Amino acid sequence: MSSLSLEHIYKKYSNGFEAIKDFNLDIEDKEFIIFVGPSGCGKSTTLRMIAGLEEITEGTLKIGDKVMNDVEPKDRDIAMVFQNYALYPHMTVFDNMAFGLKLRKVPKDQIKKQVTEAAKILDLEKLLDRKPKALSGGQRQRVAMGRAIVRDPKVFLMDEPLSNLDAKLRVQMRTEISKLHERLGATIIYVTHDQTEAMTLGTRIVVMKDGVIQQVDTPQNLYNAPCNAFVAGFIGSPQMNMLDVKISVEGEDVYATIGDHKLKVPASKAKALIDGGYDGKTVIMGIRPENVNDSQMMVEVSKNSVIEAKINVYELLGAEVYLYFELEGFPMTARVDPRTTARTGDTVKFALDMEKVHMFDKETEIVIT
Ligand code: ATP
Repeated sequence: MSSLSLEHIYKKYSNGFEAIKDFNLDIEDKEFIIFVGPSGCGKSTTLRMIAGLEEITEGTLKIGDKVMNDVEPKDRDIAMVFQNYALYPHMTVFDNMAFGLKLRKVPKDQIKKQVTEAAKILDLEKLLDRKPKALSGGQRQRVAMGRAIVRDPKVFLMDEPLSNLDAKLRVQMRTEISKLHERLGATIIYVTHDQTEAMTLGTRIVVMKDGVIQQVDTPQNLYNAPCNAFVAGFIGSPQMNMLDVKISVEGEDVYATIGDHKLKVPASKAKALIDGGYDGKTVIMGIRPENVNDSQMMVEVSKNSVIEAKINVYELLGAEVYLYFELEGFPMTARVDPRTTARTGDTVKFALDMEKVHMFDKETEIVIT
């Protein structure tokens, strides 16, 4: 039995705008599910429907085997952590964490026990008497988490809970949330537009665009086998390079041509292009920056998959270098070894690892191979 399921969910706002279209998802117990996608794709809307803060226009929401569509938010056994963690400024950390339990008329002893336990998990024991203004951003965020934890809900909903923190604290809190997930053994549904957060936290990621699920998969599968050009471009940083290439079938061999560069498509990818009838057609070829290699050795052994371009920008990030250039007008990034001798203005040869390319239909943008 899944812990939560969304079946054919639609959301139409009162102004007629259809924010969510036919959303289907089964979430297992103890999963860490991430909703990710560009601004306005419907992540928060979906989360708010699960929480009961937004009406479901059509479809069925179940928690356990119970239909929840018309159940009051407070009776859904769900706790939500928002991006602006909205602590009560006049209350101590203890009282902030105890507030929801008091409302539910939980006995005092029980409240004390639950708050103390949550404070221990979140390392807030020494701060229980403080007011929010005497806390750092990360500590406030932990109190907001604490407020959710004390209720011991079946499902946690988190809407960009780290977006108000600075970069360093975000990374730290990311690790904290991961540990918390393990310790609590709870189901978490987490909204973010930050794909690094999605990749590092999620057991499964739901990639959304314009109110429609694009792909639901593990971080690794999303990275290695994106189902369309949108997912391919959204997951991974720096972004996957995308360029239009013309496919030609010559006997047994298949080539992808861009400008003067005729690249041999490996047998593992060729069949799908032949079978799909792509001979003579233009497709989108995607290749990740780490598969664009400027090492002399690779260039020498990769006769049929070498391109040449002038470097526009050289960017050293310590452990790696990004080289930016254009190929027939398409912007490209190569992620190379920091010992590279290539610099801005140089004309450089790159070997493309054609075994790693993805081919997408130019019109539908659906993956071919
Ligand atoms: P962000 O990452 O920017 O928070 P999101 O993916 O969470 O975006 P939602 O907040 O779910 O997106 O909004 C989805 C779409 O629904 C947007 O186009 C938004 O403008 C629209 N929308 C949200 N609330 C309403 C409303 N009350 N009435 C009409 N349209 C709305």
